Amino acid sequence: MAARPRAARDDVLSSRPFTVLVLAATMSAAGCHGMILSSVQRERLREAQAFADRTTAAYQVAAVNVVPSIRLRTIYDPSDRSISVDPRGLDDRDWLLSLAHELGHVTLAHRHERTRDVTELRHMELDANARAIEILVRVRGWSEDDAVRRLAGYFVAANDKIRSGTRRLASGHLPPCHELDDLLERFPAVRDAPACPRE
Ligand SMILES: [Zn+2]
Repeated sequence: MAARPRAARDDVLSSRPFTVLVLAATMSAAGCHGMILSSVQRERLREAQAFADRTTAAYQVAAVNVVPSIRLRTIYDPSDRSISVDPRGLDDRDWLLSLAHELGHVTLAHRHERTRDVTELRHMELDANARAIEILVRVRGWSEDDAVRRLAGYFVAANDKIRSGTRRLASGHLPPCHELDDLLERFPAVRDAPACPRE
């Protein structure tokens, strides 16, 4: 769930083995990306592009292209204004959360590739999380409460996966529970959000 440099939160979060996606040896009917996507993934990709279009229009920034990621990562690349989406993530019920996070980077005009300052990169991630909430409310019509709670649940699940060793912490990011703490500080009105286990 990140822009460059390779701070893909979805790397951390998506542990499902890919059962649907296969790489096509030839250009396929699925499009010019050489991938075969399931019908659900194709439909979600269309919805993702529509969501991106509505978001960039609402924030009056240049459009971005949403494309399936052949590297199986969800990343915003400012250099060509593309959001590569891990097709496996499109099977997940929380696929909108990671896309909203990337659109957070887009609408905040983040240029991750221009800095190596870890503190600055982490701030970008935290700001993108908060902007994701704003986008889900403004563009998707979610309540703020629902958006914060779902993103909180996402962080809790990511934390579980890291602790169990099935995922690694993505570069550029604070541990999920720290990102969750920051999110809840920014939205103090939201009560009873999913919480990380206390040691
Ligand atoms: Zn990010």
